[in-house]
Parts: sequence; C-alpha cells; structure tokens
Amino acid sequence: MTTLKAFKYRLYPTKQQQVLLNKTFGCVRVVWNHNVEVFNQYDKNIAEQQNPLTSTQLRQKFEWMNEVSAAALQQKEMDFKAFKKNYFSKTRKKKIGRPSFKNRDSRQSYRLPNQKFTLNQNSIRLEKIGKVKLVRDRAVPDCCKFMSVTVSKNSCHQFFASVLVELEITQKPKTGQKIGLDIGLKTFLTGNDGFIIENPKFFRESQAKLKLAQRLFSRKVKGSVRRKKAKLKVARIHNDIANQRKTFIQQITSQLIDSYDFIAIEDLNVAGMVKNRKLAKSISDAAFSEFYATLSYKAAWYGKEVVKVDRWFASSKTCSCCGWKNENLTLSDRVFNCSICGLSKNRDLNASENILKEALRVSSAIRTPSECQTEIA
Ligand SMILES: [Zn+2]
Repeated sequence: MTTLKAFKYRLYPTKQQQVLLNKTFGCVRVVWNHNVEVFNQYDKNIAEQQNPLTSTQLRQKFEWMNEVSAAALQQKEMDFKAFKKNYFSKTRKKKIGRPSFKNRDSRQSYRLPNQKFTLNQNSIRLEKIGKVKLVRDRAVPDCCKFMSVTVSKNSCHQFFASVLVELEITQKPKTGQKIGLDIGLKTFLTGNDGFIIENPKFFRESQAKLKLAQRLFSRKVKGSVRRKKAKLKVARIHNDIANQRKTFIQQITSQLIDSYDFIAIEDLNVAGMVKNRKLAKSISDAAFSEFYATLSYKAAWYGKEVVKVDRWFASSKTCSCCGWKNENLTLSDRVFNCSICGLSKNRDLNASENILKEALRVSSAIRTPSECQTEIA
C-alpha cells in the first residue's frame, strides 16, 4: 500500500534568506487575494465576466514578483482553482464558506513541486532561495517519491519545511492481541488487560504558564515594543503545548499499534463534553480528538483494526461478566459491584472489558464466551 506522508523539519534561514522567504509568502498572498477579489466581483447579470490574471500575467504586471519562485505562485493559483472546483461541486458534502482574503496574520506558507527543491542531509535547496540550513531529526525512508514541500512560518517566527513523500507502508507484525480502552479524565486510557496511560501533567503546568503570560500581555500598552514581545511569548507557549501534546499522542498510539491487532474504544462525543466547562480543561488537555485521528490513520497504515463503540453504550454501568446493569452507579463509585454474579472490579477495567466485548460483537469477530472472569479490583 502506498500512502502520502509529511516529514516536517525546522529551518534555519540566514537573515537574507528570511527576507526572501517573507517576500515569497507575500507574493503568494497577492496571487490568492487577487483571485478572491475577482471571485467576489462575480455578477451573474453581467454577460462578460472578468477572469483573474494568471500568475504569469501577475508577474509581468508586478516586476517585484519575479524575485520569488514562479512555481510557488503557480501552486497557489492551482490551490485557488481547486478551491473553486470544490466550492461549485454538486457532490460536496460539507458546507464551505466563501474564500477569504489572507493578510500577514494568516498562516504564512508556500508550496513547491518536487522539481523545485532538493532535500540534503543538513539542508534543503529551495528554488530562488538557495541552500537553507535544516535540522534533520527524522529520516525520510529510502526509495520514496518526493511530491512537494511546504515552507511555512509560525507565529513565533520559526521557519519549517514539510516534505510530502509517497511511500510504501509495510504492515506491522500481528500480535494476536485485542484491547478495550476506557477513556477518562483521571486516567487517560485504561485497557481491560491492565494497560494504563495516566493523564499528562505537563499540559496543566503549561496552562499555568500561559495564564501568566496572557495576563502580562494584556497589561502592556497597545502598540508598544513590550506588548509585541509579550505577544510572542504567548505564541511560544501555545506552540510548546501543541508540540508536547503531539509527542504524547504519537508515543501512545505507536505503542498501541505495535502491541495490539484489535483496538476497541468508546466513541465519545468530545464536542458535547467540552461544553461542560468544568470538564473542558481536562478534556482539551487530553486532546481526545487528536488521539482518535492519529490512532485511526496509524491503524489503517499498519494493518490493525480500530473499532469505535457507540457512545450511548452503557460501558460503565454494565457488568462485564453477566450483563446486569447497575442504573444507580455514580461518578464517584470507583468499583463496580454486581448484585447478580458478585463481580467486583475496578470501574474503568469493567468499562474497558465491556467496550472490547461490544466492539467484537459489532465487528462480528469471533466472541469467546469463556471470557467471563471474576476479579477483585
Ligand atoms: Zn454480573
């Protein structure tokens, strides 16, 4: 199976290269905004419609645009055409808004096709920019096909190159193991076999730092240099949090995919839970939706199965041994006690056992009736 995978690297451009990169972001924005402008002027009552200038025509009109890569401008032009096609598509399922203008506060990026860049060991050669220093902390696999590179700048003024490659994925060896996972606020994941991932503390710590930085920022005089600096600090903390979360999720999903062939999880309505403000912080901490997305794509890549169990399925209230339902179970009950078969089990373990059983049932996999065990929590 082939798939597209992006490898993102931090870039360390020289001052001169930074100027050129910023110019490229600006010119790409001009192409996009010109297309948006013409798009917005469309009037069905006028027979003769104005067509947007092509990127080549724009370069003829504005000489300063020749300083940057023509390919980058063409790519942006293609992006707008793709947007337009999607906008007018009759089969489109999701609603999309009208195109919006981009300014300096928007995401700064541009893309180059594969003929316009070369990735080396410690650098990347970009058309019109030259050799830019890069830290290659992840290796691109051999014999993959380079598709494109997206050069970007974040709000902390850091530059990145995200190299998109097409590669062959080899499936991970089968382990024959199955797991049911209960997702919680106290413990991030509880597996029915005792697999446990605690909720990460770092997010809460970063949250405190963020709160302080935001307060300092709001006190600074508008338009001052200090305010600008404080704003950058806030952006840096946001950036750190996102990176920490990403690393955490990458680690646990890899661990799960390596160890299990069949992973059953509860399909929590994250959006619904976030509305509950008390829970909101812990939930965003844990970043459930990112976890789901990462786990699902990795499973698809490596030939493993992830089955989501309906969120209305009463995983906590049901006895994992005999199926009796304890309707009176409250959030503070940490142990599930069954009045019928006498099962006494840790609440999360009981729930994860149920999730696994339910997932096996819905996926019509073979269900072993002898899985009924009595354990003391
Ligand atoms: Zn029971």
